[in-house]
Amino acid sequence: MNETNTRRTEITIETRSVTIIRMRRGESNSAFCRNCRAEVPVFDPLAAALIFRAAQDQLAVLLQNGRIHSTAAAENGGGSGGDRAGDAHNAALCSRSLADFFGKEIRCVED
Ligand SMILES: [Zn+2]
Repeated sequence: MNETNTRRTEITIETRSVTIIRMRRGESNSAFCRNCRAEVPVFDPLAAALIFRAAQDQLAVLLQNGRIHSTAAAENGGGSGGDRAGDAHNAALCSRSLADFFGKEIRCVED
């Protein structure tokens, strides 16, 4: 059984796109995300929906399921309570978890 002597070339093409989010100076918003344990840029749900082309309802579900993070609940201090999903519509959403979930790389810059 002779293997035919063909050479196989595999080419892997990786596409990588970075979404640059430009904010007016002083309008960029960041907060401490407890899940990421880091200071992260945050978006309100409308901005997140536009940036990640998602429906706000979808974001609310993801938030509820813990797939994306909200930093808003952290402001209420030391309670042992979880994030309340009802706050989804005025939540400050962790950009890092959004970028991870949607497989998008984002970078926030100030003008
Ligand atoms: Zn986070």
